[in-house]
Amino acid sequence: MIAPVLPTYNRAKVSFERGEGVRVYTPEGEEYLDFGAGVAVTSCGHAHPHLIKALTEQAQKIWHTSNLYQMPGQEKLARRLIENTFAETVFFTNSGAEALECSIKMARKFHAANGNPERFHIITFEGAFHGRTLATIAAGGQAKYIEGFGPKVEGFPQVPFDDIEALEKTIGPETAGILIEPVQGEGGIRAVSNASLRKLREICDANGLLLIFDEVQCGIGRTGKLFAHEWAGVTPDIMAIAKGIGGGFPLGACLATARAAHGMTAGTHGSTFGGNPLATAVGNAVLDVVLEPGFLESVKQRALVLKQKLAWLKDAHPDVIEEIRGAGLMMGIKCKAPNTAVQAAALEQHLLVIGAGENVVRLLPPLVVTDADIGEAINRLDRACTSLSVKAA
Ligand SMILES: *Cc1c(COP(=O)(O)O)cnc(C)c1O
Repeated sequence: MIAPVLPTYNRAKVSFERGEGVRVYTPEGEEYLDFGAGVAVTSCGHAHPHLIKALTEQAQKIWHTSNLYQMPGQEKLARRLIENTFAETVFFTNSGAEALECSIKMARKFHAANGNPERFHIITFEGAFHGRTLATIAAGGQAKYIEGFGPKVEGFPQVPFDDIEALEKTIGPETAGILIEPVQGEGGIRAVSNASLRKLREICDANGLLLIFDEVQCGIGRTGKLFAHEWAGVTPDIMAIAKGIGGGFPLGACLATARAAHGMTAGTHGSTFGGNPLATAVGNAVLDVVLEPGFLESVKQRALVLKQKLAWLKDAHPDVIEEIRGAGLMMGIKCKAPNTAVQAAALEQHLLVIGAGENVVRLLPPLVVTDADIGEAINRLDRACTSLSVKAA
């Protein structure tokens, strides 16, 4: 016997029927504070009136046309992403993995179109996560995701996290580019230093490589800037985004400079659903919210409050918490107790948090979180940590 839904997930025994802002409710009406945001997806909170309006208004007009025709919603969203980033062109997808697939294909095609098809290797970093397609599991390099699925897709050499020396040794005549999350999400909320990101840009420029950022999790305001790499003052050639840009509607994108994208001519890539009218209506609404003057400033302020309160929590529970790390509203609690136990204890206190690598618990609240919400989440975490200490004693 197998479950009707393929049992590839370890699901908590709880479901949610509706949400509002930072809160979600079970069918029985029990309230939970959502500090996971469905893994950094519900950027504007649940049931944001502006997003509901954008989606329902579009739903009354037309749901799907096709990339065979002009797509005004895509064009508007592309122009706005371009205005606010390094990018000059955008390809729309339905997910993060597809945004990475486009990024990887584009980097390979760039060199092929330049007459160097042998340059198809993309160097990645240990602890990376880039999605679950065959190419993106190879890029992520995690054995647990790769094993049993046939030969690993070729061309993704990997070096230790933040090891510039190892990276430089790995660059060769086959190297096409470097792929990195400015803040690792699944790997355990590890931020790459601004100095390292700048060094990567230098290395790419010196070796004719393309620099690819995966901002699927850390982008769209999560760190207090529209994109995390802005803190380092460098820009990539290609960038994959998803999660937060859809605010809960499946939407991703691959952003690029004209130079990096020059090989991607008509017929080289495509998607049936990518950037459909419903998705781009919501994507535009998310940008309305996030680009509103003062919004990112308020994310920075909330992030400071969260960081301070987490520092207090760590001091209060040295037996449970080892370290607090992260950036903006993308924070990690490195645990001494098993992170699964901390996550379960938080769930018992009606607080949703998410596990990550290196025994970390992730806090990724909607960007509209208030100081009061943060205070309440810390109270619940405090009780969760106390319950763990009592159990251990
Ligand atoms: C979630 C994630 C992906 C994959 O996105 P999907 O929408 O699940 O395909 C890729 N990269 C990073 C950094 C992510 O966090």
